[in-house]
Amino acid sequence: MKFLMFGAPMAGKGTLANMLNEKYSIPTVSMGDILRESIARGDKEGVLAKSYMDKGVMVPTEVVCAMIKNRLAQPDVAKGFILDGFPRTPDQLDIFVKENITDIDVVVNLEVPYERLLERVVGRRTCKDCGYIYNTGWNLGYEICPKCGGEWGIRSDDNEETYKKRYDVYISDTLPILDYFKGLGKVVTVQGGAEPEQSYQNMLEAFKASGISGLEQFNA
Ligand code: ADP
Repeated sequence: MKFLMFGAPMAGKGTLANMLNEKYSIPTVSMGDILRESIARGDKEGVLAKSYMDKGVMVPTEVVCAMIKNRLAQPDVAKGFILDGFPRTPDQLDIFVKENITDIDVVVNLEVPYERLLERVVGRRTCKDCGYIYNTGWNLGYEICPKCGGEWGIRSDDNEETYKKRYDVYISDTLPILDYFKGLGKVVTVQGGAEPEQSYQNMLEAFKASGISGLEQFNA
């Protein structure tokens, strides 16, 4: 089963993808993480990408397309995956379709009110070691990563100013591509404004209501 997570930055795509991953062991493929890994390795693509990401604008299409093709060709994702952050612009959608990069079974469209998105920006913490995402707004008191004990980091683009730019880019460049997937009848809309467990339940209910099944095949 191939999922595509869709929604504004801070909608909770990565969090829900991680929850699906924990429960069903479906691999997650996050474009943002692939880019950040490339930055951490100091690759020349990473150096270039960082200059765009810090401004909250899109990394050039040829860079992200090459990276995602490479990732989706690895054997661990052959059975399925949860894709987050690609395609994200009309250009990328064009290449996605023309080059038949992959097919998608379900698009999870996460809807979250703008005010809630803004609140989440200031609280997001990401584990420096395993990438686990936490938000101080969940009030769980985690001083360190509950999964691996790693230290919390704050993404350099997680501030209000950059967020507003990222949100504008989402509205102008990313939201229009949802129509393509709507046309294929693949979009399931999920209310994602609540805390993770509630949003996760909303997602499972939306799957049920849309007759989506087959998650069990992923249980190890
Ligand atoms: P968010 O969804 O919260 O913005 P991501 O980790 O998905 O976080 O993306 C962070 C940044 O990485 C984006 O602001 C953008 O600069 C870059 N990026 C991620 N995915 C893509 C993509 N498909 N195309 C171009 N740039 C991307």
